[in-house]
Amino acid sequence: MTSPSPETIAALKSALGPGGWTEDPAEIAPWLTEWRNRWTGHTPIMLTPRSTDEVARAVGLCSEQGVAIIPQGGNTGLVGGQVPYGEVLLSTRKLRAVRDVTPLDDAMTLEAGVTLLEAQQHAAAAGRLFPLSLAAEGSATIGGVISTNAGGTAVLRYGMMRDLVLGIEAVMPDGQVFNGLKRLRKDNTGYDLKQLLIGAEGTLGVITAATLKLFPVMRSRATAMVGLETPHSAIELLARAKAETGGGVEAFELMKRIGMEFVLKHIPDTREPLESTPPWYVLIELVSGEPGAAEAGMERILAAAFEEGLIIDAAIAQNETQRAAFWKVREEQSAAQRPEGGGWKHDVSVPVSRIADFLDEATTAVERFHPGARVSAFGHVGDGNMHYDVLCPPGGDLKAFLARWMEGSEVVHDIVATYNGSISAEHGLGRLKTDEARRYKSSLEIETMAAIRRAIDPQRIMNPAVLF
Ligand SMILES: Cc1cc2nc3c(=O)[nH]c(=O)nc-3n(C[C@H](O)[C@H](O)[C@H](O)COP(=O)(O)OP(=O)(O)OC[C@H]3O[C@@H](n4cnc5c(N)ncnc54)[C@H](O)[C@@H]3O)c2cc1C
Repeated sequence: MTSPSPETIAALKSALGPGGWTEDPAEIAPWLTEWRNRWTGHTPIMLTPRSTDEVARAVGLCSEQGVAIIPQGGNTGLVGGQVPYGEVLLSTRKLRAVRDVTPLDDAMTLEAGVTLLEAQQHAAAAGRLFPLSLAAEGSATIGGVISTNAGGTAVLRYGMMRDLVLGIEAVMPDGQVFNGLKRLRKDNTGYDLKQLLIGAEGTLGVITAATLKLFPVMRSRATAMVGLETPHSAIELLARAKAETGGGVEAFELMKRIGMEFVLKHIPDTREPLESTPPWYVLIELVSGEPGAAEAGMERILAAAFEEGLIIDAAIAQNETQRAAFWKVREEQSAAQRPEGGGWKHDVSVPVSRIADFLDEATTAVERFHPGARVSAFGHVGDGNMHYDVLCPPGGDLKAFLARWMEGSEVVHDIVATYNGSISAEHGLGRLKTDEARRYKSSLEIETMAAIRRAIDPQRIMNPAVLF
């Protein structure tokens, strides 16, 4: 990797002008460490362009000099792909414009630095829904969620980010602007460049704006917390809820009791969501276009499941405060692990029908590999995606435990592979998993990805340490 020379830095400063860059270590510092404190990088300069034209000038200059660039949005990525190690850091956070909102097309075009939460708010102001939702939505940006093909809690009904993008504008690695901001639902004109850029983790260019799909606002919504004996019951309940509502299940999130205990112990303003303390919980959200239908459907589904012994407890949120409390214990699952000393993190997916078997098998293997290790599995079980985290035994040697992360991950990921699953369901590969993915991807896949990258970025200046 070529770091920028003093001349290149001077040229970048003059191209972007005052306000378009900073070298102030205090200003840059918060953008060098990622959320879990696993990586702390360094950069000689952070660029903060305010327009696509400024991004194009900066990337063009870096391309001329063969200087590497790391694009960064909200710095909430969980695999370290946004952290620079000597590269130029290009922050998109000042690309803030709402270019258009067109309700008749069910579409809106936002610049890359708009946060996910703001995107949802812009859609709501136009009487529409932008459905992507995740716990980091107050900071994660549109450019970031596209570049990681983020998932979140509503994938079951609306799909991942890849399904929610109609068009993209991006600055390619040579500084040219790709203007693909279309509002079309149909466009069969050969390879789809925007789909290549989605999930590319900043390796094929800098996304500067995107046209996103909007949806009708649902007329009814019901949220429930359910207690179960096993994840096998959860999968049976999911199938019933999907069939009963005709596709009205928006979220179906599984949590283990130990994760609930961490939340109750470490996160202020949280309380037991149920009267009992079951081994597993599911947070279900149903929606419908018909007023009252989601609530009625939830009551019917849970009453039948309770009668048949499929579930052992349930509470339906009676108001927005209760709904928010249910979501809080789900969204804080990850943060609540920190005071317990952190652990080996996994973001895996297997076919939905196999997730309970996977959980049984992986937990047996982990307990054999590291006796006493605590498994705190939670996540988007409705789409087969679990955050399968393994924590140090209480009072154990945390440093020694964390040193076994990669070895422990191999145990978990080898089992994922036998289920024809994925070792990164929604977070991407980044710095964390690029090397490990070589174990599980075919050489055909790896070589094809590398060839595409060479064609688009022959100097490999875009996020060089990430992907193949
Ligand atoms: C508490 C918490 C909960 C989370 N929950 C979920 C979840 O449920 N589902 C999920 O999928 N993810 C989740 N994440 C991960 C994270 O929020 C997503 O990966 C998000 O998409 C990252 O957006 P960002 O703007 O912060 O991107 P960054 O972290 O800044 O960057 C992520 C990657 O995208 C690249 N990139 C960023 N912007 C651009 C751009 N404009 N052009 C080109 N490349 C770019 C970077 O180089 C990097 O490789 C969670 C994270 C946290 C901290």
